[in-house]
Order: sequence, then C-alpha cells, then structure tokens
Amino acid sequence: MFDFGLKDLIDIFLVAIVLFFGYKLMKKSRSVNIFYGVLVFISIWILVSKVLEMKLLGSILNQLVSVGAIAIIVLFQEEIRHFFYALGTHERVNRLMKFFKPKNNSTLDEDSRYDRDTIMPILMACLNMSKQKTGALIVLQNDLPLGDFIRTGERIDAKISQRLIENIFFKNSPLHDGAMIISGGQITAASCILPISHDLDIPKEFGLRHRAARGISKETDALAIVVSEETGGITASYNNEYLPHMDAERLERILIKGKF
Ligand code: ATP
Ligand code: MG
Repeated sequence: MFDFGLKDLIDIFLVAIVLFFGYKLMKKSRSVNIFYGVLVFISIWILVSKVLEMKLLGSILNQLVSVGAIAIIVLFQEEIRHFFYALGTHERVNRLMKFFKPKNNSTLDEDSRYDRDTIMPILMACLNMSKQKTGALIVLQNDLPLGDFIRTGERIDAKISQRLIENIFFKNSPLHDGAMIISGGQITAASCILPISHDLDIPKEFGLRHRAARGISKETDALAIVVSEETGGITASYNNEYLPHMDAERLERILIKGKF
C-alpha cells in the first residue's frame, strides 16, 4: 500500500514547504481557521481516495477537489492580494522594475513625492482642523492607483486649496464623512469608503477613522493623514506604519518625503 520512492519524498517535502509558508502567511490573519479547515479536508481526501481507496466517497471528494483551486482563490482572496502586493513592493523587485519605468522628467526634487502647491494647503488645513478639532481623513495617492476607492465617494476633481479641504470636513458639510483622496495634484474625491484594518495592535481609543487610515496604508502605498475629532491629534499612516502625534514639522517632513 505504501510504496514511496525518492520522487514521492521530494514531492511531500515540497508540499510541506508550501503548507509551511501558507501557514506563516495566514497566521496573522483571521483566515487561519479556514486554512486549518482546508488542511483537514485535504487530509480526509488523501485518506479516503489514496490510502483506503474507497471508490464512491473518493469519487465525490475528487469532484470537490477538482474545483478546489477556484474555491481556494475565493476563500483566500485577501491573503492572495496581500501576497502579490508584498511581492510587487518588495525592495529588490522594485529596484529591478526601475529599469523598465520611464524616466521621470518632473521638476520635483529627487526625494519629494509631491510639489509644494500640493503640500502646503494640506499641511495648513490639517493644522487648522487640528486646532478646531474637526475630524478629517486625507489620503494621498502614490504609485498605486486608488480608483476602486475613489469610485465609492463623490468625484470632485478640484484644485487643492486649504479652504476647500476645511470646507469639505466642516461638521455639517454633506461630504465630511469618509475620506478625501488626493491624486494627480488634485482633490479627486471626498466621502470615500476605505478598507478597515482589523489589526489588534491599534490602541483601543482609536476608532474607525484611524483604522480606515491604517487599512488603506496596508493595502496600497498611499499616505493617509487623520485629524482626530476627539483630541485634535494628527496621525499619519504609511506602509502599515502608524505615526501618531504629528506636529507641523513632522507632518511637513512626511508630506515632502512621502515617507517617514
Ligand atoms: P476620532 O478621533 O476623529 O473620533 P476615530 O478613529 O475614533 O476618530 P470614529 O470616531 O469611529 O473614529 O470616526 C468615525 C468617522 O470615521 C466616520 O464618521 C467617518 O467619517 C470615518 N470613517 C469610518 N469608517 C470609515 C471608512 N471605512 N472609510 C472612510 N472613513 C471612515
Ligand atoms: Mg472616535
């Protein structure tokens, strides 16, 4: 019944490696229990059709396994997205991709992601809203397009101005809820819905606005800035990093560099 050759051992070894990395990837997410469920199912399938060679039950399970690839893609959609995003944004891959990117002829200084006309109104608006404890969530697009999130809000396509930003987040404004997205040197949209981060290391006093900022910075390379309605505190989120207690100087620096 058990006739294993060297090829089978290598096969089992490779499967074990795939499972190990699959487990490592899932460990931190809520899908780890689904991963265990899939493992139990595969073990039963191997036992029934390969070891015990039960014909009827085996053929039913075989049918299920044949659509397994699609089921796995549906079940682990989020993790698969994160995996490919992490792969695509990996430092070495990025360095390699630079050879294929067209040369940037912009007049921005080498290190800066946004020009001063973009940065200053945002900076001044955030500082003012912080003083007045006006809640705000501003997302600045970087290399990855944010079309999926822009579509959830109200399209604006307006020149960036301090007064417009403050006006949009003013408490009774119809667009004050949700996030403002800035891309291509414009206020592209407001009232946008962002993905909420479920990470457990976010302090309890932070609510959905801060979790949404963390969520978008985890899924994309955007920079998110939150002004807290409760405390007036400014928090930036970039690359799934959480940077609280931003003062004018730190905020300007993060806006200029696009990263901390
Ligand atoms: P604050 O310190 O300003 O109170 P908070 O982190 O405690 O912020 P909440 O008090 O829960 O967050 O803020 C709720 C507001 O956050 C909502 O009114 C809405 O404007 C915004 N918000 C909540 N969820 C999302 C989301 N998924 N995408 C964008 N904005 C959101
Ligand atoms: Mg709150």
